[in-house]
Amino acid sequence: MHETTIIPCPVCGGLGLQQHDVLWPELVAAWELTPEETRRINRQQGECCTQCGANLRSRTLAGGFLECLNWPQTLRDMNDLSHTAHHRILEINAAGTLSPYLSKFRHYRLIEYPEFDMQKLELPADSYDFVIHSDTLEHVPDPVAGLRECRRVLRPSGTLVLTIPIVPTRLTRRRTNLPPAYHGNPGEKPEDQIVHTEYGADFYLDFIAAGWTKVSLFTLGTPDALAVIGTK
Ligand SMILES: [Zn+2]
Repeated sequence: MHETTIIPCPVCGGLGLQQHDVLWPELVAAWELTPEETRRINRQQGECCTQCGANLRSRTLAGGFLECLNWPQTLRDMNDLSHTAHHRILEINAAGTLSPYLSKFRHYRLIEYPEFDMQKLELPADSYDFVIHSDTLEHVPDPVAGLRECRRVLRPSGTLVLTIPIVPTRLTRRRTNLPPAYHGNPGEKPEDQIVHTEYGADFYLDFIAAGWTKVSLFTLGTPDALAVIGTK
């Protein structure tokens, strides 16, 4: 199947893309990625909009979020905040290039994991309409606890929108008894980038274990990046 349809960037509407590979040999080895899996992750993390810089992961997250909002235009077009003024947004770790747009919501809070423990959020229940995070869950020692907390702080019918790096050609692997592996970029502070879970095709099991009963996927027409959407 050929991917011939060019989907405009959900962040800015741009049509241009450029690829730069982001994986390095030590990470490919630790993750034990095949060449095809390596290509997939490189595209997910390194295929960037030439106009706004959003990578495929961020564009997919933005697209999923906008669909939940029923907003037919781009994230950048969302200047009329009267449309969104009532939405309460919790962003856990800056979601790539999307934060500047999300931060314009009137009821917006950004917290940083691990400084703010996602496994035990010191936030009241039923207090947000959206919880958003991008490639954070794999760094949480107990991701089921993290997902349970996301659900707790959402109001009934509230929505979790997230990305995680999923390798769909294998099953989820915990790195508990494996040598430490780090995402992020070589040379960055490694403590925050340690990976506890390498997600695979059965990623949804953690969501069900955390109490989620309604989980769906959003894509930009390619399986190389998925936004996972949970509705409380
Ligand atoms: Zn863009």
